[in-house]
Amino acid sequence: MIEKILIANRGEIAMRILRACKELGIKTVAVHSTADATLKHVLLADESVCIGPPASTNSYLNVPAIIAAAEVTDAGAIHPGYGFLSENADFAERVEESGFVFIGPKAETIRIMGDKVMAIRAMKAAGVPTVPGSGGPLGEDDAENHRVAKEIGYPIIIKASGGGGGRGMRVVHTEASLLKSIQLTKSEAGSFFGNPEVYMEKFLENPRHVEIQILADGQGHAVHLGERDCSMQRRHQKVVEEAPAPGVTEEQRARIGAACVNACIEINYRGAGTFEFLYENGEFFFIEMNTRLQVEHCVTEMVTGIDLVKAQIEIAMGRPLSLKQEDIKITGHAIECRVNAENPSKNFMPSPGTIERLHLPGGLGVRWDSHIYTGYAVPPHYDSMIGKLICFGSDRTTAIRRMDSALSEMVIKGIETNIHLQREIMNDGGFCDGGRNIHYLEERLEHLV
Ligand code: ADP
Repeated sequence: MIEKILIANRGEIAMRILRACKELGIKTVAVHSTADATLKHVLLADESVCIGPPASTNSYLNVPAIIAAAEVTDAGAIHPGYGFLSENADFAERVEESGFVFIGPKAETIRIMGDKVMAIRAMKAAGVPTVPGSGGPLGEDDAENHRVAKEIGYPIIIKASGGGGGRGMRVVHTEASLLKSIQLTKSEAGSFFGNPEVYMEKFLENPRHVEIQILADGQGHAVHLGERDCSMQRRHQKVVEEAPAPGVTEEQRARIGAACVNACIEINYRGAGTFEFLYENGEFFFIEMNTRLQVEHCVTEMVTGIDLVKAQIEIAMGRPLSLKQEDIKITGHAIECRVNAENPSKNFMPSPGTIERLHLPGGLGVRWDSHIYTGYAVPPHYDSMIGKLICFGSDRTTAIRRMDSALSEMVIKGIETNIHLQREIMNDGGFCDGGRNIHYLEERLEHLV
């Protein structure tokens, strides 16, 4: 049994975890920086500990301070949320070595999936479709690198094995620029990620981003909860997400879902996880696995009725997964809009400050996951996302209309937000048609803001 959970995160996801703990009768410990003493979950948690100054490197990424907070409060487990330390294998190891349960996969799994070359190899071996590519790190043999690129077919993309956050990638269109691009990407990868290893993949020109949610107990059982379409992106950041993905058939879902489940069993995966794919012409190509809860997990919860955070906690307690694949049904459609404190008409400049007035939407099928309240000051030190509005409907059109209506009710005064842009997206013909690719939103932005 886990009786007390330390939440090693902030903002809306800390609230999400707190709510799941309350429902399960588990006590909570909030940790926070000096800039975050008035966060909603800090005020609502059973206990709270200040772990350092505002800069995340000194607080939310401060491993000794977090472990010490778990020790003094006698917590049984640590939930890392997303971002910060959630995919840090060394942190997961330290947590377990210190005698706490890490709510996530084993450190070695995080380590493998954090190295893209190793992750792709593991996926290939488990029968998950990957992007045609070098299949391993590029060596110093120029002729061999030319041969591999030619065989894959231009354009290709050079990617850093240790890359993340959309950095350490370079598209190559012609043979003439191949060697130079490999060298440049290697040296960037060395300085950004401390690992100069790079690999090569076919560059897909107009893919969609479609990802599969899984749950696995690390005891030989795994299920998939269908897919999410996260193609509406700006600068590789997701803006709107939905489930299911428009146009993905039940047969396609079952096939790719089964491949992911098989991979989870092969690698003895434990916890919630996401397989990210590029999706083009009806085919899935694995790009990476996220070994944690995702921001957009809520749309999956709405269409499956399964509470993913509770499931994570139950798995961490060592309970075998009671869900069977045939129990999981996808019903209706859910859309999530990320609400950010930023000004879309001023190049998305962050807009921290005090929320002077707040009116929230409601009604059937409307969910608001957030930590903000009237009088709360959004600090300038962290991510600009201040909440997620999730709307569920019997079908996609109903979900879009409901989202537009909910956004129209929403009033946040004192700071700038992207609510207006989200309404424009809900009324955009291409978005309403569904199935647009990952470049669509950026191409449309100048008409929308
Ligand atoms: P990161 O871990 O940095 O997010 P990913 O491997 O997930 O890196 O890739 C990030 C984004 O880069 C993808 O969502 C996609 O937009 C683009 N990308 C990556 N690989 C390819 C590829 N083979 N073809 C086309 N686009 C790609």
